[in-house]
Amino acid sequence: MKIRSVSALYPRYRNVVKSWRTNLWQIVVRVETDTGVTGYGYGGGGRAAVEVVNGHFAEILNGRSFDSTGDIESLWDELYEASIPYGRKGVAIMALSGVDLALWDALGKAERKPVAELIGRVTKPRVRAYATGADTEWYAELGFSAHKMPHRWTGSPEDYDSAVAAAKRARELFGPSAEIMFDVYMSWDADVTTEMSKRLSEFNMHWFEDVLTPDELEGNAALRPVVKPTLIAGGEHEFTHVGFADVTRTGAYDVWQPDITWCGGITAGLRIVKTGVEHGAQVVPHRGGEVWGLHLIAASGCEDFGEVLPGARNGDRDELWLGEPQARDGFLEISDESGFGVRLNESML
Ligand SMILES: [Mg+2]
Repeated sequence: MKIRSVSALYPRYRNVVKSWRTNLWQIVVRVETDTGVTGYGYGGGGRAAVEVVNGHFAEILNGRSFDSTGDIESLWDELYEASIPYGRKGVAIMALSGVDLALWDALGKAERKPVAELIGRVTKPRVRAYATGADTEWYAELGFSAHKMPHRWTGSPEDYDSAVAAAKRARELFGPSAEIMFDVYMSWDADVTTEMSKRLSEFNMHWFEDVLTPDELEGNAALRPVVKPTLIAGGEHEFTHVGFADVTRTGAYDVWQPDITWCGGITAGLRIVKTGVEHGAQVVPHRGGEVWGLHLIAASGCEDFGEVLPGARNGDRDELWLGEPQARDGFLEISDESGFGVRLNESML
């Protein structure tokens, strides 16, 4: 099928606090084809990424054909190379992610298959979910068996106490066999991580996420034996298989967390998973409980573990994608609908 048009837009989010992290500057990419099939993708990078898609990628893709996952891969490589002068990481690859996902969605719709079936054999139609956020009590009530809490180091020794209190409470609410994790969003350093590992040892933490920045890969690697058996997780701010080659080289993380809407889409995700599995890493995509990551998890060597962000009890949320699988009793299931199986909420455009 031939590409008729490629366009990106920034949705009208309503429930947004003054932090880019709330909606993560996510963009929508639409690919229209000459068969009447339209694919939708989800990317990052905000209005800058919209400009990359509409001002550059669309020009390359208009009139081009794709009929297989191999064709999508070739187009991906072409867009990656064309954007090298300003790309390779960050906004350009977040834009490319949205385009890639829209192409996979269109191909799935054309072949009347879920994206997971385009990827390969679906070995995990049902995925164990973990709830990320601050409303620990609510997530326990919802039936999750795994939970990741935020923690930020502010420079006060009391931050050790708050981490211990949060871990203790989560362990009490979720029970001894649950997976309990901390995401510290690059706020700990090597000394804090070492001390936290000692103080938290009785709570059997599954992983510590983003203890250092992604520019400190060797530093992350050095902490792996220090915090063992707790794992060092990271990678939501790393891009493409090229970026993850540095993760391999340095041995930075036990758990790799590419974000499929940022790291280059399913095409880059598959390359990352292949390398990760070959090198003994556990691949657990960032926000993997959303359809974009969930289809990859279902049909690849990713761990059986999908991240969902339920927010807070009674909190208002934007519903940009309709028909997304919801976690039930701590598990997610992909639907058998074509493509990613979601519809765009047009009222948010
Ligand atoms: Mg994180």
